[in-house]
Amino acid sequence: MTVALKLSNINKSYADVSALLDIKLEINDGEFFSLLGPSGSGKTTCLKVIAGFELPDTGQIELFGKDVSSIPPFKRDVNTVFQDYALFPHMNVKDNVAYSLKIKKTPLDQQEILINEILSTVKLIGYELRKPSELSGGQKQRVALARSLINKPKVLLLDEPLGALDLKLREQMQIELKNLQRQFQITFIYVTHDQQEAMSMSDRIAIFNEGRIEQIDTPKNIYNKPKSAFVADFIGTTSIISKKNALKFFNHPSAFSLRPEFVNIDQDNNCEFKVDAELSDIQYQGSYYKILFKNKDINITSFYYPNSNINLNLELGSNHSLSWSANIITNLDE
Ligand code: ADP
Ligand code: MG
Repeated sequence: MTVALKLSNINKSYADVSALLDIKLEINDGEFFSLLGPSGSGKTTCLKVIAGFELPDTGQIELFGKDVSSIPPFKRDVNTVFQDYALFPHMNVKDNVAYSLKIKKTPLDQQEILINEILSTVKLIGYELRKPSELSGGQKQRVALARSLINKPKVLLLDEPLGALDLKLREQMQIELKNLQRQFQITFIYVTHDQQEAMSMSDRIAIFNEGRIEQIDTPKNIYNKPKSAFVADFIGTTSIISKKNALKFFNHPSAFSLRPEFVNIDQDNNCEFKVDAELSDIQYQGSYYKILFKNKDINITSFYYPNSNINLNLELGSNHSLSWSANIITNLDE
């Protein structure tokens, strides 16, 4: 496998803020790789360091085995799609998309072919003469994509590219983006704070927390084998039991997390973990209910599917017996 990007020991501070702390990662050629974390965790800074818009305080950036740490942005074989699209407002769609071809002085007849090809790929044929102000959010997003894909960069950096779109359009664009990435076989480095987006699109994900990477793994492993309480809590719904409570309630020696889909409610079974708890909140989610249970200091979330043939007393304050098997918990260092 070819390594497209390698970051070694990257540190970057702004005054007294450490935006990136000892970042190390390797991304393979053709991979869809996401940088996922809450706002302010260093994702954009990391992308800027890769693109060359920011210089790190320490560390090395390699693209396809070549050290580019001191090479300016326009000489790196990467392109960036920004969250606000950064289209030229006075230029129409065609001129926005053709911009880099004009700079490179690509022959006009070849420009025409390339522009038609890419506009057809992003479904914008017929919109060539519109200005950005005459386009919807989704269409602007497609122009930004076309503009960055027309050079066929080896690596495409995307900073929350769907952040400004509403949910339906975002889900549709997620599918289109993934198709584009397969079609062009480009390495995508994708920044998002949306865990559903990262989980559904990525080959691998790096979880950022306060400038550090907490875990790099496949979506499945991130969900099923979170390495820290932060990752377990950030991805999906989880209940975290502290070490103190694990000992007190279950005689279990370490803190652990458990996913709601593994918590049985009122079932007589031979599970290793059992606890009685009070139903403290219930949230309707459409096809299921998310139910919160409480026993003194511990909170446990479970799901209830009303179309399953189990009948449940859903009254607030009602008492229930919860159980789960030992093999579904994830032990956490604490
Ligand atoms: P994210 O993209 O994950 O939201 P950023 O990489 O933008 O996070 O920011 C990481 C941290 O660095 C934040 O605390 C942010 O306030 C700080 N930061 C980012 N850019 C600058 C800058 N140009 N000057 C000062 N602080 C900055
Ligand atoms: Mg950002």
